[in-house]
Amino acid sequence: MSFCIYHFNSQEMLNIVLFGPPGAGKGTQSEKIIEKYNLLHLSTGDLFRKHLTEGTELGVLAKRYINEGMLVPDAVVIGMVEDKINENLTANGFIFDGFPRTVTQAEALDNMLNAKNLPISGMVALEVEEEELKRRIRERGKTSGRADDQEEDKINTRIKVYYDETLPVAEFYKNQGKFKGIYGIGEIDYIFEQISDAIDSFR
Ligand code: AMP
Repeated sequence: MSFCIYHFNSQEMLNIVLFGPPGAGKGTQSEKIIEKYNLLHLSTGDLFRKHLTEGTELGVLAKRYINEGMLVPDAVVIGMVEDKINENLTANGFIFDGFPRTVTQAEALDNMLNAKNLPISGMVALEVEEEELKRRIRERGKTSGRADDQEEDKINTRIKVYYDETLPVAEFYKNQGKFKGIYGIGEIDYIFEQISDAIDSFR
């Protein structure tokens, strides 16, 4: 019965969107989530940085946006994510980190995944105040070597872009009843416990 097949697939694959502004702790918490749930980490920021280092055509295109703290155009990001999903269809599930960052990207992701009967299970959003975000990004900039972590105007642009263009993505998942917000300041393990509870509630 086709209903049973659909039910089985959507229960099996755990697809989580880890959401939050730059500096909220998505990278740190992703590592713990991957370990516990054995998911494939799909970080668009990491993928772009790899392209940049390797000097690919995509890397050259993305570089000027990244260095200015602006978003890479939707079509470019969506194409890159679609390739990555298609290469990994046997994974236990995906953790999307830094994607979707616009409502257009969120719609495209839903279309891609729903077409494969592998919908998003839920969004976990890390919530951190702006001053703490800036402090963390500056701190990371001391070792990350990332230009966009070091220059004050780039940091400010990234946070502004988050509020203007990315925050509406939370509404998109709230409207689907798939949103869980978690306060992102405190002990890393304590925050992770709450993320785990949220993920377990999506299953
Ligand atoms: P991140 O490591 O997630 O902070 O991403 C670093 C930079 O990569 C961002 O400031 C953007 O320039 C670019 N980027 C990463 N993910 C996306 C995305 N989903 N949409 C557009 N640009 C992105």
